[in-house]
Amino acid sequence: MTAEDRAWAADFEPCDICDLCGEVVGDDDLLGALVPDSSAVYGTDPALDGKRVLTACTVDHLAVLVEQYRARPFVAEELWAAKVRRAVAEVAPPVPLSLLAKLSGISEQEALRGIYWHNARAREWRARYGGADRACRGD
Ligand SMILES: [Zn+2]
Repeated sequence: MTAEDRAWAADFEPCDICDLCGEVVGDDDLLGALVPDSSAVYGTDPALDGKRVLTACTVDHLAVLVEQYRARPFVAEELWAAKVRRAVAEVAPPVPLSLLAKLSGISEQEALRGIYWHNARAREWRARYGGADRACRGD
């Protein structure tokens, strides 16, 4: 890091944005909540998989966001599909189901159900918007 980089970093105030309105909020004023979300997986902290960190500028905006996620169904197959997708990105194919499950931290049956769920969503998307006729193995 150069002296110029250090000077720039010293002037930088930690901040984030409100997930509802996009307002930039300094870390000292930022509000947050952790909510269930089957679409959320993290490469840096898999222990947070299935949970979404929400940030908001006000209590009212945080309440709206929490209510939105409360209304969203938690679909286990969606979470397993996301875990499989993350694992597949790290290895060269073909990947045996047993290895895929191990890398994903789930059972082979959960990995397979996640793949089926993903392929069903892909078929729905292609039926609606068109596109290549491809699916993951296992379906
Ligand atoms: Zn806001």
